[in-house]
Amino acid sequence: MSFDSPLEPLPHAEPVVPDTVFLALGGNLGDVRAAFAGALRALEEQTDEPVACSRLYRSEPWGERAQPEFLNLVARVNWPGGVRRLLERCRELERAAGRERASESRWGPRPLDIDILLAGGMMIDEPDLTVPHPRIAERRFVLVPLLDLVARTRVLPGRMVTLHELLARCPDTGRVEPVSDGPWEAWRIDTAGDKPARDRS
Ligand code: ATP
Ligand code: CA
Ligand code: CA
Repeated sequence: MSFDSPLEPLPHAEPVVPDTVFLALGGNLGDVRAAFAGALRALEEQTDEPVACSRLYRSEPWGERAQPEFLNLVARVNWPGGVRRLLERCRELERAAGRERASESRWGPRPLDIDILLAGGMMIDEPDLTVPHPRIAERRFVLVPLLDLVARTRVLPGRMVTLHELLARCPDTGRVEPVSDGPWEAWRIDTAGDKPARDRS
C-alpha cells in the first residue's frame, strides 16, 4: 500500500529547500586559518549559497591533551546533495589542506578536521556516518561555536534536550576562547594565509 498523496502539494506547502547542515572545523597543524578559509570558500562556491560562520575559537586540546591548542569554528551550509556526498566532500577538503589520516593518532594533531554535526533534523546511524555527530554533547569546543549559530532552544535530533542544556551539562571543562569578536569573516578575504599574523582575527 502506498501512502503517497495522488495530489500535488498546495502552493503554500513547505518549499523544497536544501538541507541546512552544521559543520565543525578544527585544526592545529600549519596555517589553520588558511585551511579553514580554503574549505569555507570551496563550500560556498560549490553550493552557490552563503555560508555562515561562528566566531573563531582557540581551544584546549580534547582527548589527547599533549599537543598544541586548536582553532575551531562551526559553519552553516545549505547543502543541496545527500549527506554521504557531503562527507566525501569534507574528506576531499581535509586532504586538500594536507591531512593524511594514515600517519595520525586518534584525536592527534591535524591541519583540518571537518565533522558533520547536524543535517536538518536527520538522524543517520551507519558504520561510517553518524548524524548528529555522536560526540557533540561531550565537547565544549563544538557546543560553544554551534550556539553562535543556532537558537538556544534548538533540540538535538534524537534527544529530548536543547543544545543550550547540553552545554550546561557538558562534562568537558576545556578552555574555549573566542579569537574574533563577531562571526569570523576573514575567510572571505584571506588569500592562502598570506596576511600578516598581526592583522588576523
Ligand atoms: P571524532 O569523530 O571523535 O571527532 P575524528 O574527527 O578525529 O574523531 P576522523 O579520523 O576525522 O575522526 O574520522 C573518522 C571517521 O568518522 C570518518 O572516516 C567518518 O567516516 C566517520 N564519521 C562518522 N560520522 C561522522 C560525521 N558525522 N562527520 C564526520 N565523520 C564522521
Ligand atoms: Ca572530529
Ligand atoms: Ca572527523
